[in-house]
Amino acid sequence: MGGMEYPVIERRKTRPVTVGGLTIGGDAPVSVQSMANTRTADVEASCAQVATLAAAGAELVRLAVPTRDDTAALREIVRRSPVPIAADVHFHFDRALEAIDAGVAKIRLNPGNITDRDQVRRVIRAAADAGVAIRVGVNEGSIIARRPSLAAASESGGQGWPPPITEGGWKAETRRPLAELMVEKLAQYLEVFEEMNFRNLVLSAKSHDAVTCVAVNRAIAARWDYPLHLGVTHAGTRETGAIRSAAALGTLLCEGIGETIRISYAGDPVYEIAASLELLYSLRLRPRRGIELIACPTCGRLQTDIVPIVEAVRAALADVTEPITVAIMGCVVNGPGEAQAADVAICAGAGKALLYVHGEKIATVPADRIVSAVVEQVRKMVPPQ
Ligand code: SF4
Repeated sequence: MGGMEYPVIERRKTRPVTVGGLTIGGDAPVSVQSMANTRTADVEASCAQVATLAAAGAELVRLAVPTRDDTAALREIVRRSPVPIAADVHFHFDRALEAIDAGVAKIRLNPGNITDRDQVRRVIRAAADAGVAIRVGVNEGSIIARRPSLAAASESGGQGWPPPITEGGWKAETRRPLAELMVEKLAQYLEVFEEMNFRNLVLSAKSHDAVTCVAVNRAIAARWDYPLHLGVTHAGTRETGAIRSAAALGTLLCEGIGETIRISYAGDPVYEIAASLELLYSLRLRPRRGIELIACPTCGRLQTDIVPIVEAVRAALADVTEPITVAIMGCVVNGPGEAQAADVAICAGAGKALLYVHGEKIATVPADRIVSAVVEQVRKMVPPQ
């Protein structure tokens, strides 16, 4: 980027956690993970999706294991997966034991629905013996009884642990910030892990609300040095999900908080990876892989329609893995400035454009040759395969 000095995000110190061949926390870069949406028991479909997600850049893939058939499929999925596999466990602690036995690198436990202390101890013991990491993942939706009937049912649960956070019922509860309640739930759950000296832990606290996510993760980061998995839960469609996640995760990452991320939204999880990577590239938390496209947003000064040009350049260079910056600008207002900082740049005029390479003007090209000229220059910079 033209030798310019940009500020660098200082990351918080966390303990490193080993998840198969991946390290989360410590000096490791912020990692990208995703979750498969196949039926885990369908080994072929699950392996295919894990491979697709890994090829797109996922460094850890989580799978849901609601049934014994799902955990039975894990051994083969783990064997074939190019990245560590995590099992997402809810309600049934024996799914956690089965997943550990099948060779997963990490399991996720939800303090909202696996609440028996002895069951949790058994899972911790098995994870410790197998060198498996555990994520304790609190979700807003599964810990807070939002309606009086749910709070009452929760209170009468008897053996439940951690104790339901109701503070005399729903009305009292709603007076306390949700972030505070989530941290309290996490603290209660972590007692048993600390009592057993189990430290191979990743923590998470998710809400569908971006501001709550920021508040709760700031509080967790201030209290524990376990690495944090960041995500916004139930973030919605591809567009709202990506933006809501970027708002919450971007804020936290800028503060140095967050060691692994998942951007999630309804639909094909492969798009989550591109969004996660772009967020980390944008914050310079990971070195960019592939073309960084800088394009002017277009305005009334536009001299050549650059929108199809940008799209054609993006598509033509999708296979490039080198971090090459390409700027495509619609007029001379910001064009020369961006061209100085880019590896290849176009500054479009009426019917023709100036072509820059490493900040030097090298040619004038007709509008219909802009795409091929840019692609040619980038290809010259990419070592032959
Ligand atoms: Fe408008 Fe020119 Fe800026 Fe593009 S580079 S947005 S055309 S002023």
